[in-house]
Amino acid sequence: MAKRRGRPTAGTKKPTLQPTQRRTKQESGLQCTNQKVTQHNVHVKNLRELTKNAEIRNTDTLITNNGKNIVEEDSDEDDPMWTLGMNTIRPCGCKGVRTCLSCEQNFQIAKTSLKEQFQQLEAWSYCIQCDLLQPGWDTNQVQKDHENHKKDEGLPLPGILVQEEFLSVDEGAQLIADLDDLPWDISQSGRRKQNFGPKTNFKKRKLRLGSFAGFPRTTEYVQRRFEDVPLLRGFQTIEQCSLEYEPSKGASIDPHVDDCWIWGERVVTVNCLGDSVLTLTPYEVQQQGKYNLDLVASYEDELLAPLLTDDQLATFEGKVLRIPMPNLSLIVLYGPARYQFEHSVLREDVQERRVCVAYREFTPMYINGADIQKGDPVREKSQIFWQIN
Ligand SMILES: [Zn+2]
Ligand SMILES: [Zn+2]
Repeated sequence: MAKRRGRPTAGTKKPTLQPTQRRTKQESGLQCTNQKVTQHNVHVKNLRELTKNAEIRNTDTLITNNGKNIVEEDSDEDDPMWTLGMNTIRPCGCKGVRTCLSCEQNFQIAKTSLKEQFQQLEAWSYCIQCDLLQPGWDTNQVQKDHENHKKDEGLPLPGILVQEEFLSVDEGAQLIADLDDLPWDISQSGRRKQNFGPKTNFKKRKLRLGSFAGFPRTTEYVQRRFEDVPLLRGFQTIEQCSLEYEPSKGASIDPHVDDCWIWGERVVTVNCLGDSVLTLTPYEVQQQGKYNLDLVASYEDELLAPLLTDDQLATFEGKVLRIPMPNLSLIVLYGPARYQFEHSVLREDVQERRVCVAYREFTPMYINGADIQKGDPVREKSQIFWQIN
């Protein structure tokens, strides 16, 4: 993919989305001086009941229904809500600010719609054919309107690849059947997952092999096919994670940047069931070290698409970007789209059971840098594709 530079446009609107919202103690029901509520906007109406009913543990280890220990990859410890006592383990798998329909009902947590907040921003959707953002919230409509798109009115954002029909219809059906033959673990925000990769502690920056023994043989051809994608040259999968979004659970994923200490530049997703949309908003660094973004400076020179300057980034202020994720497609986020924006999947964009498989590579530190030896055992296991018999 060609490298492109963002360009400033005249009359950029100021963002209307407030990063934080303040509420009084009475409104929020929280007995705490820290009244900051995150952008994710969970207000706990009945925190006391929540902490009474739910088991409180000081660890981020969750005992799942099948008795297996899983450690959540996305650390919640940076969330203000964590310190407000929401660090409870709920039976559904949610922690901190993460919620699903189940815990929202059981613990009377009111979650304001992210969609409603985002829709106050100026919406642009990625047109697969233009390889440009075009005005509009509805990604399907924007693809349909391609004939009328004017190149010079489109907005470029380096770091997005959407490759349709990466899998055939038959392959998609087989892949979902093969994944469903393997056990699913509950995750947060109504998701389930199947994680194949090392154990990672983003906060302590600790990597452990854990029980990682390679990947399911039934999925091997997908990784092999990455070799045909020029953007994925040299991509070595070190984590493969199936993710299920079930609409009846209100499944979603809150805005985040994938960890930058261990996960490399290219964040790869293969969709094998259901269409969805990825929603991006510009990320302003508020907390040093959040997402381990501070480490990006040490490998910035090696990025496939250079980061945007502050002036270029200003073009995206007040905008929300929508990227279609059609079933059977390959999606890659890299460069600016990966590091300078948070991405999310809105509950409203999960209309049918959606399953995708996410792939991660190492950061340069673990490939050819100071931590290369720590990466070796993981690379070794990554060569294995196991079969169940
Ligand atoms: Zn929940
Ligand atoms: Zn177009």
